[in-house]
Amino acid sequence: MDKKIKDLIAAWQKRNIHAVYCQDREEAARKILEFVPQSLSVGFSGSMTLGELEIVERLKERGNKVFDPYLAGISRDESLNLRKLGSQADVYLASANALSQTGELVFFSGYGNRIAGIAYAPKVIVTCGINKITPNLDAALKRAREHATPLNCKRLNWAGACLKDSVCRKEVCLFPEYKRMCCQILIIEAEVTPDRLKVILVGESLGY
Ligand code: SF4
Repeated sequence: MDKKIKDLIAAWQKRNIHAVYCQDREEAARKILEFVPQSLSVGFSGSMTLGELEIVERLKERGNKVFDPYLAGISRDESLNLRKLGSQADVYLASANALSQTGELVFFSGYGNRIAGIAYAPKVIVTCGINKITPNLDAALKRAREHATPLNCKRLNWAGACLKDSVCRKEVCLFPEYKRMCCQILIIEAEVTPDRLKVILVGESLGY
């Protein structure tokens, strides 16, 4: 583990955020399964990182109750209800848009369900590749706005003002001219409850 990662884990520890380092996605998936007993229900937000870990499928196979708003064939109302239930599950899984080397975690959201889950679920596990580490909070916010969100707009064909050229124009990215994706921003600076928030930092590039 290099010094930068050791320092980041130490910065999280000072903020009451328990962090572990995993070499790769397979080790990270096994760590999530270890952290989440079969008896607990699970909510999650849409995430390329979680998709790359195939963790939702593995939790379902293992017998966890998973509130999955992305099930094929469900209605929009059913999907919204599953997002609501997921944000109140025993454990919430997510990835961040960016990590600051100083210890803050940055999350952007459209509907807010993942903000609710991350901010208030009894247990939260945030899994991130090292590609999401930035030098400071300003750089983390910039990464979320100028890298992650435009790519997500493209992936989901979401009509944010950055859809066509990946340039954030947040001053004009409003309704009805555009469909803004990053409507809510959560910055986690620290955690009060011991052992509520865990970060799994993975030593490879994952997600956007
Ligand atoms: S504010 Fe709009 S233009 Fe900027 S990143 Fe978000 S969706 Fe894209």
